[in-house]
Amino acid sequence: MEDCIFCKIIQKTLPSKIVFEDDRIVAFEDINPKAPVHILIIPKVHYASLKEIPGEEKDILSHILMCARNIAQDHGIGDSGFRIVLNTGPDSGQEVFHIHFHLFGGRRMSWPPG
Ligand code: AMP
Ligand code: ZN
Repeated sequence: MEDCIFCKIIQKTLPSKIVFEDDRIVAFEDINPKAPVHILIIPKVHYASLKEIPGEEKDILSHILMCARNIAQDHGIGDSGFRIVLNTGPDSGQEVFHIHFHLFGGRRMSWPPG
């Protein structure tokens, strides 16, 4: 996707602080962090949101979650706890339309979310 900022991060035409990458996903620091640890995890294939993931591609979702767990451990929040957020659509506040999981940690989270 030409105009997608996260596709540009994947292609490395837009700078970012990548913390993990494999053949299917990239994880990088959020540019405007909302917690001491705030990492975004995205598939390398462009999907606008969870709604656009085809059923036959569902394995990417479990792969992202398992990588998120490992990244949390690597960043010292595996035991203190962390939150994973997947905003989808207007009411969620989704702003970037390349599916991304937020990984938050390093502070006490409130509930319910805002
Ligand atoms: P969402 O509201 O779920 O769509 O979240 C979009 C997230 O992308 C926000 O937390 C932004 O701070 C983050 N973001 C936007 N542009 C960049 C960028 N160039 N590098 C890293 N994070 C970004
Ligand atoms: Zn994209």
